[in-house]
Amino acid sequence: ELNREQSERYYQEALDVIVGGVNSPSRSYKAVGGGTPTFFAKAKGPYMWDVDGNRYIDYLAAYGPLILGHGHPKLVEAISQAAMEGTLYGTSTPWEVQFATMIREAIPSMEKIRFVNSGTEAVMTTIRVARAFTGRTKIIKFEGCYHGHSDLVLVAAGSGPATLGIPDSAGIPQSIANEVITVPFNNIEAYEDALKKWGHEIAAVLVEPIVGNFGIVKPKPGFLEKVNELTHQYGALVIYDEVITAFRFHYGGAQNLLDVIPDMTALGKIIGGGLPIGAYGGRKEIMEQVAPLGPAYQAGTMAGNPASIRAGIATLEVLSERHWYAQMDHLGAQLEEGILHSAKKYGHNIVINRLGGGFTVYFTNHTVENYQDAKTTDTEKFARFFKGLLDEGILIAPSKYEAWFLTIAHTQKDIDDTLQAVDRVMSKL
Ligand code: PMP
Repeated sequence: ELNREQSERYYQEALDVIVGGVNSPSRSYKAVGGGTPTFFAKAKGPYMWDVDGNRYIDYLAAYGPLILGHGHPKLVEAISQAAMEGTLYGTSTPWEVQFATMIREAIPSMEKIRFVNSGTEAVMTTIRVARAFTGRTKIIKFEGCYHGHSDLVLVAAGSGPATLGIPDSAGIPQSIANEVITVPFNNIEAYEDALKKWGHEIAAVLVEPIVGNFGIVKPKPGFLEKVNELTHQYGALVIYDEVITAFRFHYGGAQNLLDVIPDMTALGKIIGGGLPIGAYGGRKEIMEQVAPLGPAYQAGTMAGNPASIRAGIATLEVLSERHWYAQMDHLGAQLEEGILHSAKKYGHNIVINRLGGGFTVYFTNHTVENYQDAKTTDTEKFARFFKGLLDEGILIAPSKYEAWFLTIAHTQKDIDDTLQAVDRVMSKL
């Protein structure tokens, strides 16, 4: 057991002044049976240090953005420059033009782009723009996918294959949930049923083209193509939420990797290099709905701020040296193989869904293709796995639905050390 005195102390203080002691519910250890969240105070490369001085190999990567690892020199330089030359002007800047151009070169379907401050804002605005463009109000989303915390997307499935939503949070009126239809991912029949029933009221479908929010789940062959085809047949738009996936698996969007092109795209996480950012974009005639050109309003005091934008440029410049993705894939494959090996050795049923440097370990004996599959995996065993890893100085997200993320900073030695730790944890599960 690691010494956690300081984390314990900060947590007690935090509980007094910050609601629930955390600034995002996923940081509490509720999904792993409770306990004191670890408080961190330093990070470098693939490592983080908690307030008691314990070192961890970081596979959380801040839920995705930290693909360069912590404190990459190019990123430090970019952010320092911004600190010296101005972090916020409230005006147009050259960097936002450069950055939008870089993004469009990598994700050409984003013909026109707008920067915002978070993934939540990006997705929220794509929906508004799609509604403005189509003159319709309903949206379809896939069960278990997370698209930020705006009202429309915090709506969960009811019972049945294609259902009108139920609010997934207090404070969201049923009238808003009535605008959302939820269907299981990777189930084209359910999707087609939903369109048959509500197709002519649908403004857009919201898709994580590779799911990141009930673990890493790839679309079945042909699924996204068929979603595109059916959606367009009913005059609705396809929105890809690439907040997690863009620049995660290769230099570009999942849409470019899979060669299926949406009408609009939302970005966040990696494109800010660890600073707050979001972006949305899409076909020119759709984006021309946005103010000042069109009637759909969206604005932001912090939008396009030089600090986030310059951090984003630095991040993409590093990532565009494309061998990094091969390296993360190589190390990811070793982790996958080693974790499977240890699980088998000690008789634990696990399934790993991996793509490049991102993967999820599910405690189950069935494949995971949709949310129900992920939901029915062993929550308690995962919780013991998480806590065992934490005691070994391996940091992953405290939820069975999240991914491990490699960064370009992880080394062969980190992988070897991790696999030894995993083996010890599996031996005691
Ligand atoms: N979309 C997806 C796919 C996400 O994973 C997230 C965050 N986990 C969001 C949107 C929301 O992004 P943010 O937390 O930056 O608001």
